[in-house]
Amino acid sequence: MHVYDTVISGGCLILPGGLAHADLALDGPSIAAIGHGLAGTRTIDAGGCYVLPGGVDPHVHLQLALGGLVSTDSFASGTIAAACGGTTTVVDFADPQPGQSLADALAVRRSEADGQVAVDYGLHMTIPTWHAQTPERLAEVPALVDAGCATFKLYQAYARMELDDVALYRAMAAVAQAGGRVVLHSETGPLLEHLRGQAVAAGHIGAIWHERTRPARLEATAIHRAAEIAHLAGCPVHIFHVGCAEGVAEIVAARARGIDITGESCPHYLLLTADEQLGGVDGNLYICAPPLRAAEDQSALWRALAANGLDLISTDHCPWTRSEKSQHSFAQVPGGVPGIEARLSLIHHFGVNRGHISLPRWVELCATAPARRMGLARKGALLPGYDGDVVIFDPQRQKTISPDTLHEAADWTPFAGLAVTGWPRTVLLRGQVIVENEKYVGAPGDGRFIRRGGKRQA
Ligand SMILES: [Zn+2]
Repeated sequence: MHVYDTVISGGCLILPGGLAHADLALDGPSIAAIGHGLAGTRTIDAGGCYVLPGGVDPHVHLQLALGGLVSTDSFASGTIAAACGGTTTVVDFADPQPGQSLADALAVRRSEADGQVAVDYGLHMTIPTWHAQTPERLAEVPALVDAGCATFKLYQAYARMELDDVALYRAMAAVAQAGGRVVLHSETGPLLEHLRGQAVAAGHIGAIWHERTRPARLEATAIHRAAEIAHLAGCPVHIFHVGCAEGVAEIVAARARGIDITGESCPHYLLLTADEQLGGVDGNLYICAPPLRAAEDQSALWRALAANGLDLISTDHCPWTRSEKSQHSFAQVPGGVPGIEARLSLIHHFGVNRGHISLPRWVELCATAPARRMGLARKGALLPGYDGDVVIFDPQRQKTISPDTLHEAADWTPFAGLAVTGWPRTVLLRGQVIVENEKYVGAPGDGRFIRRGGKRQA
């Protein structure tokens, strides 16, 4: 009888086809077998727990340089937080500067992450305004796909990044031709800048004006336009951070028209609202773009997540400290909120325990679908041959979320005070235990850059 390196026994496996009470065996870095009575050199008891694939967070911003600031979590601290929350792969970004080649931007960003990361990672390549208008830069796209960087981030907002429709089309066509995919920040940027300027000039500087100057319907029209441009260019497109009912409706309608489009939401859109958070005393903390919306939007998001209207859940983790967030006007606040650690538990508690989604759908949204859409061929499912990234999740563990107990570096969390039932107990990365009984036991550099394939390789 074969003796496997590790056998995780007695748990309830969450498999692509449903639940199974069985043992999961790993050999070396990979999942080797699923069965009963399997023997291992090491046995991990998962009695009373769910056993699921490591979470895949396809949208995080670690040590992001922005306007003289750097986002609060380093590659080290952010990925330790991810690991402790049951996420074993993250996808961050490489942002080329004017005049810098895409290959150089990738090498520079990898040099910041390699040797630091506690979990595996990939990088989306940003195509900023100055690159989208430069044919030589777009000619580099196929080489990036070959280097395992098959997803390209485009923006329809932010003065220095936003692409007009022609630039969007040209960039999408270049990505499509190389077999890559586009991930998109979709808002009607130039008009939002105008509305924001008007509000500030009229003395409306409170955080709630962040939402009032970014109307949901303008988010939806941007998605509508981008979907049609992507279709024209033959390019698969993934819409980042969808927070409003209007955005969901556009994605569903575009898919019904035969467009290759997916969408994600994030825990903060599902659990927080503009009125309560942006309108509260610490409003500036909750500024992110697109903004938090209303309770009715949350219902629409949950319905879409349950019924395939939306495809996956990321965090858009982009933390800043309380003092960095404390600015005179909402227009000066660096955008983004932390969230990399509690994603699995929040979605388990508020999604599964509250009856919005099933257990298999939870795993699909947080692991399987992001892996598939982002070209991570061996991640996101408990299947023989896949990477041995495994979470043993205790569905009875009760926790109240607090910045003091999270491993995230920021001195606050938007989810402080929320009580959840269910938390990861033990986490394996490619066969190695990196979190044991909620304690991080890995080392910097355990994680690796993962080459992600485009359509040609898939
Ligand atoms: Zn983002």
